[in-house]
Amino acid sequence: MDVGIAGVVGRKKLLELRQREEERFAKRTARSIELDARARRHLPCGVPMGWMKGLYRTVPLFVTHGEGSRFFDADGNAYLDFNVSDLSMTMGFGSGSIAEAVSRQLERGAQFLLPSEDTIAVAEELARIAGLPFWQFTLSASGANAEVLRIARHATGRKKVVVFGGHYHGHIDETLVEKKETRSEPALLGLLPDAAAHTLVVPFNDPAALESVLREEDVALVLTEPVLTNCNLVQPLPGFLHGLREMTKRYGTLLCFDEAHTFQFAHGGLVGAWNLESDFVVLGKGLGSGISFAVYGMSEEIARIFSDNLDVDIGPPGIATGGTTYASAMAIAAAKAALFEVLTPEAYAHVAALGSRLADGLDSLFNKHALAWRAFKLGPRSGYCMAKELPRNYEEAELSLDATLIDTRRVFMANRGIWEAIVSAGPQVSFAHSEDDVDNYLNVADDFLDGIAA
Ligand code: PMP
Repeated sequence: MDVGIAGVVGRKKLLELRQREEERFAKRTARSIELDARARRHLPCGVPMGWMKGLYRTVPLFVTHGEGSRFFDADGNAYLDFNVSDLSMTMGFGSGSIAEAVSRQLERGAQFLLPSEDTIAVAEELARIAGLPFWQFTLSASGANAEVLRIARHATGRKKVVVFGGHYHGHIDETLVEKKETRSEPALLGLLPDAAAHTLVVPFNDPAALESVLREEDVALVLTEPVLTNCNLVQPLPGFLHGLREMTKRYGTLLCFDEAHTFQFAHGGLVGAWNLESDFVVLGKGLGSGISFAVYGMSEEIARIFSDNLDVDIGPPGIATGGTTYASAMAIAAAKAALFEVLTPEAYAHVAALGSRLADGLDSLFNKHALAWRAFKLGPRSGYCMAKELPRNYEEAELSLDATLIDTRRVFMANRGIWEAIVSAGPQVSFAHSEDDVDNYLNVADDFLDGIAA
């Protein structure tokens, strides 16, 4: 029998639909297919970064340009972007103030390996909205988390790091780790077999499991998003994050909230909106609107580690941070324009209203198609929870991560001008989206659900 999951048509029918949609996609993207053949001669898998290829089953779209909430492929097709480059373009393509600030800085000099007055303004504003007093720049959120981890090890004299199941914190050996039965193991190839030796993976929303590892007093850092955003969306149960803070303090462990994604959910990030206390906070991705940089904030006590352990060329070893192109004048220009001109409380209110429109619209569609599902809803982010109860941890979230279903939706929507989220995420609006964009998404989602509801 062709049995489906959670109210969806059987596998066979789903695969037939995906096949039809992939054929249609191939017809609409003839130029991308030509470019892909050429690209494969000098780029492994035809892409500048292998990960790009692994995200989709179809030939990658070759893009010509973007404009606000849309981008265009080499065949001239337009896509309303609800993945927003996995949340790294949340201010929209070609966004006015950031594009202007960055172009101006490029003309005046992109990089000096020296600070400017604007750097102070950026740090002052970050301190005001996100709560922590001291800030450092890196090139990516991965880099920021890697530095936080090193500083935490130095500060505590401990080796271990705790992350939660369903986590993602970037391209760092120690956190590219998953729990297999009782042990942590590297989750990808090419990592040292003992890359996971000092990483503990604990279930989210489980204070007892957390306490059982922190009690040993050998954990340097707990690294977590306030809401897990890389396995759909897992929200903290009431009191969990404040309990986490209290516990880390009690056992001498440092705490970092990784807000690479979630600073886009509320003004000042969720640390600001939910009044969360921590030793570090990491912001990245969409903050630069495509200009690669991230920042991390820290307490005054942690900041002292920099002055007490300065990394000088000749002399005793200092704390292992920094890089030549970090904190470039261009990154600072992008950060300043983003913080002062785009990421205003009004803009956050606008995306939250659009996010609600999207989530409430999806809930109505689930009712219309008699699906016992529920939309994820937090600020600009939504998504498809294929159960009535929201997940509390990775195991529960995984039930809504059906790769075939999500991939069928992605290609179906792409054929109708909507660029859907990658598998582990959900649709999200950007600061450049409009109500019409959201309604467009919902119309196409309606057609898709019509085709797959059992
Ligand atoms: N932290 C979180 C929570 C992320 O989701 C990601 C990327 N998805 C990163 C860190 C790493 O960001 P980047 O790839 O820009 O280094």
